[in-house]
Amino acid sequence: MQIVLATHNRNKMKEMSAILGHLSVELLTLDAFPEIGDIPETGDTLKENAFIKAKTVHQLTGLSALADDTGLEVDALNGAPGIYSARYAGPDATFDDNCQKMLKEMSDIPEEKRTARFRTVIAFVSEGEKEWVEGVVEGQILEDKRGVGGFGYDPIFYYSPLNKSFAELDSEEKNSISHRGKALRNFSRILEKRI
Ligand code: IMP
Repeated sequence: MQIVLATHNRNKMKEMSAILGHLSVELLTLDAFPEIGDIPETGDTLKENAFIKAKTVHQLTGLSALADDTGLEVDALNGAPGIYSARYAGPDATFDDNCQKMLKEMSDIPEEKRTARFRTVIAFVSEGEKEWVEGVVEGQILEDKRGVGGFGYDPIFYYSPLNKSFAELDSEEKNSISHRGKALRNFSRILEKRI
């Protein structure tokens, strides 16, 4: 069985391969299909966006497709940036731009109100079959960046059980506790039963 991972993001590909690699499936990425460019995420929820990507890749390749969509939900900002996490500081925002904007927006918020979570939805579409799973990790928004690993909002996301920001975790540690790691393991259990 072949599954196309509907992403061009190398960090994600590594995480996905690490968690799904033990299954007897061949994982392909969009690098094998250069004709498929960026797929517009026009949904109103993470789930809708994940299904838009998985369905599009399934239709264009004829293969099973797996897509994920992730958002950072900050309680003091009523769940923002959520589905807009990638473009929080504007359409061409870098990871650092987004972190800086978040630190600024949160500058007056006291520690106990800085709770936040990463949520990942994974959608899987194959011939006549659709599945979706979710993974969530709870944390807090730091007052300054900490650590140099990871990507996105990792340097400002504090995970109290390990007393570290996500950017201070190595990739194995992050996979074992992260939103995407949890979602992928949930999906892996579904796939195991299926093959
Ligand atoms: P995507 O839907 O996975 O592309 O994620 C949207 C945005 O959420 C990304 O551009 C990142 O800013 C952020 N993000 C996703 N996953 C992570 C993560 O594991 N750590 C930190 N930020 C993330």
